[in-house]
Amino acid sequence: QYVGKKHDDKKIIDLGDDVKIGDGSFTIIAGPCAVENEKQMELVGEMLASLKIRLIRGGAFKPRTSPYSFQGLGFEGLKILRDIAVKYNLKVVSEIMDPRDIEKALEYIDIIQIGSRNMQNYSLLKEVGKLNKPILLKRGMTATVKEWLMAAEYIALEGNDNIILCERGIRTFENYTRNTLDLTVVPILKTLSKLPVIVDPSHGTGRRDLVIPMTRGAVAVGADGVMVEVHPEPTEALSDGYQSLTLEQLKILYNEVKQIKKCI
Ligand code: PEP
Ligand code: MN
Repeated sequence: QYVGKKHDDKKIIDLGDDVKIGDGSFTIIAGPCAVENEKQMELVGEMLASLKIRLIRGGAFKPRTSPYSFQGLGFEGLKILRDIAVKYNLKVVSEIMDPRDIEKALEYIDIIQIGSRNMQNYSLLKEVGKLNKPILLKRGMTATVKEWLMAAEYIALEGNDNIILCERGIRTFENYTRNTLDLTVVPILKTLSKLPVIVDPSHGTGRRDLVIPMTRGAVAVGADGVMVEVHPEPTEALSDGYQSLTLEQLKILYNEVKQIKKCI
């Protein structure tokens, strides 16, 4: 198996410009659920740069539950994201849903996100497996650890083992939170796989007030980082505002983690 672990194998994802994931430092990826406009992204980019956070996220193609909800700006959104990344020396994480968009998206995205809903979209996995680009593979909302690792295997089998696993919560009977963030997978995956593991406490809880506590949890269980949603004005966000941190809260999160781990 390509994503399995032999001895103390450890895959480090090297994005260049001193940005590495899985090298022992704690990676923070932050940004809005969706790219909405230039102003919003400028404010986010400015804050990330001031904190020395190097990875920005933002959805341009959004897998919304309702087809009537905001679907994202598409390539226009990716252009905004790339411009901000260039300005602030950031790496870009963004989701691709349609294999037909991959080629054109390559010039804008540094890490291609495969969302929870597409974790077992095998034709999409095979396509991104042919690329020379890191892939952030989110856990399917009802996927077991084995199913998730087999999805990663689909990508790696095509030749691309630059894969980051991202726990984003699973569906359980509990509905006080949006999903149940399963932090047990972090130490489990660390024994089974060589891949870096990050945690998404935003989708994992659906609640802004739980993002910092669960980030502490992610640090404690040995995750390689977190991906968090942040918005200059969460109450005005076009998607996932209730789980988005304010820019000020991101600063608090960063300063807390920095006291324990070296951050990038
Ligand atoms: C996201 O990260 O924006 C997203 C849609 O997450 P998930 O695929 O985990 O629901
Ligand atoms: Mn979201």
